[in-house]
Amino acid sequence: MKYLSTRGRNEILESAEAIITGISDNGGLFVPQSIPTLSLDDIASLQDVNYQQRAARILKEFLTDFSSEDIDDCIEKAYNLDKFDGPEVAPIKTLGDGNHVLELWHGPTSAFKDMALQLLPQVMSKALKMTEESAEIVILVATSGDTGKAALEGFKDVDQIKIIVFYPHSGVSEIQRLQMVTQQGENVSVIAIKGNFDDAQTGVKNIFSNNAFNKEIAKEGFQLSSANSINWGRLVPQIVYYFSAYADMLKAGNITLGNKVNFVVPTGNFGNILAGYYAKAMGLPINKLICASNPNNVLTDFLNTGVYDRNRSFHKTISPSMDILISSNLERLLYHVTSGDSKQVSQWMEELKVTGKYNIGSEYLQDIQDIFWAGWADDKQTIRTIKDIFDKYSYTADPHTAVAWFVGEEYRRRTSDKTPNVILSTASPYKFNESVLEALVGTDLLIGKSEFDMLEELSRLSGIKIPKALAGLKNVKVRFSKSCEKEEMEENIKNILTK
Ligand SMILES: *Cc1c(COP(=O)(O)O)cnc(C)c1O
Repeated sequence: MKYLSTRGRNEILESAEAIITGISDNGGLFVPQSIPTLSLDDIASLQDVNYQQRAARILKEFLTDFSSEDIDDCIEKAYNLDKFDGPEVAPIKTLGDGNHVLELWHGPTSAFKDMALQLLPQVMSKALKMTEESAEIVILVATSGDTGKAALEGFKDVDQIKIIVFYPHSGVSEIQRLQMVTQQGENVSVIAIKGNFDDAQTGVKNIFSNNAFNKEIAKEGFQLSSANSINWGRLVPQIVYYFSAYADMLKAGNITLGNKVNFVVPTGNFGNILAGYYAKAMGLPINKLICASNPNNVLTDFLNTGVYDRNRSFHKTISPSMDILISSNLERLLYHVTSGDSKQVSQWMEELKVTGKYNIGSEYLQDIQDIFWAGWADDKQTIRTIKDIFDKYSYTADPHTAVAWFVGEEYRRRTSDKTPNVILSTASPYKFNESVLEALVGTDLLIGKSEFDMLEELSRLSGIKIPKALAGLKNVKVRFSKSCEKEEMEENIKNILTK
């Protein structure tokens, strides 16, 4: 399996190189040259094995330059049950009325980013050995909250790698902020940006494509790479849980082999749902991939009209991990639906950069709509949905999960489709305890309560144990309090590297 850039060029890379590099120097993203397929029998056989073995089955299709032993070793370290808080890595809960919730937040940072970011550092570390890379890798991360912490936790004290995280200074929840600024590890740095997530992400992307900057740090022995979902090594582990969910539903007798399911995905950078697209292309029986957004509904409009237009106001919402107007991974979808027309993809991306919009036309739109459906929920609807799910099923959902739930219901109403919905639950309710409590008990009861009082209160209501790492934040020292303008990112990186 080889990898190409979505924006063309003659480079053909092994997966190890694609993962170390992160992003092509022409600005494109790496995509697999072809998409492997699994038969229904292959899929059925996943029922009998655990998550780690399911992961190995999928990863071996994509990381063909890695030895089987190396892949097993990475998986063993990543999905070690000491780090995950339950007996299963990605359990699926059946709530009723054809609704199943796939919980992706049992990892060390209580968000779905752990599913990929526990594995990526292991894979990158092996890739550095395989390619005999001598440079020290500097992982630059722009985060809307969850990626930053998950990446810090995954990369902390990994040899030959440093990590620098930029987060929007008032764009993350208090728990998310505390998780990051208290991070342990000798190779980690965390900086707040005076701007929003898109500013942070654009800043990081510009630094990646700034040749002069890259040359300058190369002289000091450093090479940049990415842990954002633009890195192929982030996407491939995410394909696994789509297969795993299907296998668990088969095993539980919720479906029979070959039956289709819908996946409802709360979406920001289009990484999670794109992994679902790959799963479908690999032969997993998926009817629709339902893309759920918050008021930053640029993807809803795109999937309904074929016009991507980021010229709109940015909304801060109670589902901040989806407060994004430039969904980077869409570029990979465009590459695949145009059958690899990298000229066309480059042109759209140039239009996006210059005018803030592009239009893919009705034919490609039709192909995309055969697979995707899209909707969105505002904060009020999200709050109401959290309460409804709690009242009806005694289930406590975080705001991102609730956005997906709302859109899944809307899809059913509009289409009368009876296919089971698997809702991807992307964060523990404890990561957003203020919004969840507001939904369950109202705002009056929250006045004067600290984050930690709220954790206790939520535990009392939901009956779920507070994740240890979150409870422990109360007594941990803040290590990082620096903030900078978005124009000062490069300078800050240089300072960290030459320290
Ligand atoms: C990152 C994140 C999302 C969005 O995922 P994308 O891959 O960016 O589409 C949704 N919910 C939560 C809780 C997240 O952390």
